[in-house]
Amino acid sequence: MKKHNFSAGPCILPKEVLKEASQAILNFNNDNLSLIEISHRSKPFMDVMKKAIALVKELLEVPEGYSVLFLQGGASLEFLMVPFNLMKEGGKAAYTNTGAWAKKAITEAKSLGDTVVVGDSSDKNYNYIPKGYEIPNDVDYFHCTSNNTIYGTQMKNFPTAPTLMVCDMSSDIFSRTIEVSKFDLIYAGAQKNMGPAGTTLVIVKDEILGKTGRKIPTMLNYNTHISKGSMFNTPPVFAIYVSMLTLQWLKDFGGVEAIEKTNQEKADLLYSEIDRNPLFEGTANKEDRSNMNVCFLLTDSSKEEMFNKMWQEAGINGLKGHRSVGGYRASLYNALPNESVQILVNIMRKLEQN
Ligand SMILES: *Cc1c(COP(=O)(O)O)cnc(C)c1O
Repeated sequence: MKKHNFSAGPCILPKEVLKEASQAILNFNNDNLSLIEISHRSKPFMDVMKKAIALVKELLEVPEGYSVLFLQGGASLEFLMVPFNLMKEGGKAAYTNTGAWAKKAITEAKSLGDTVVVGDSSDKNYNYIPKGYEIPNDVDYFHCTSNNTIYGTQMKNFPTAPTLMVCDMSSDIFSRTIEVSKFDLIYAGAQKNMGPAGTTLVIVKDEILGKTGRKIPTMLNYNTHISKGSMFNTPPVFAIYVSMLTLQWLKDFGGVEAIEKTNQEKADLLYSEIDRNPLFEGTANKEDRSNMNVCFLLTDSSKEEMFNKMWQEAGINGLKGHRSVGGYRASLYNALPNESVQILVNIMRKLEQN
């Protein structure tokens, strides 16, 4: 049975990509060797790495002076690497607290130095994006989360920071156009919109590094990985390869601008049904709604069993909301076809008619 995969992460990847990746597991490059059993320093893999970096640069129009890295440890390790590399000894950082991931990032920063929270939506279970806050002049950097995967909120605008601008874009990178030059460091775990779990994309402005006076452990130092082209140690070859294929798929699709349009259509389709259908309500503040993770509740809990049965029977996967919000979460990442959203909307309508 055909599945409609709304999983929040790891999440849907394009079918073509999965097919090509499974082929490469058996026989990569027609060399009768698997992609995962050859040296990462062999030419076939070096070419994969080169191409993956080139595609990131092309798709996001990364300006000169930035390095593109494929690291390990997930976005969660970036929570620590960022303060290690950017917070001066005895320095200070500013963070927005917009969800569970932001909170974890704050915890790591606090372990290294003075960390101030300048925008905080925890008072309403993170259902909105704080605005109008001031970023102090004396901080070493400002950190925000562009899309709050669990709560379904997304920053539509970014503040102008009087300092370095750092953003966790794990769950909406490559889903919409961004101006990389406005940021000094961007990071994203691959498994939300770029590829399988196992690698983390980091885009960092070279000139901001090496200025903290801090002793940084080798593996946590961005300069280690920049100087070795993300090959200081064995890179996660499979995750990088599949990310490369997904980025190639995105390029063939027409690039970020084209997918942004499709993503908007998918989100509009679902949100308009949530707003129209009296059986459902969205959980996020309307103007802050995420185009990637759509969180909603049933207004009539007596229909829960029936609704769950209906979507499961339709082949829908991964619709259950995160335990901290409850209800439902439909993740509409790049590879999710419009058709899947239409099927969900049809079920919501059918539920109303019953
Ligand atoms: C999933 C997610 C993370 C955590 O990523 P890991 O790769 O599992 O460490 C961090 N930030 C955001 C916004 C996420 O969606």
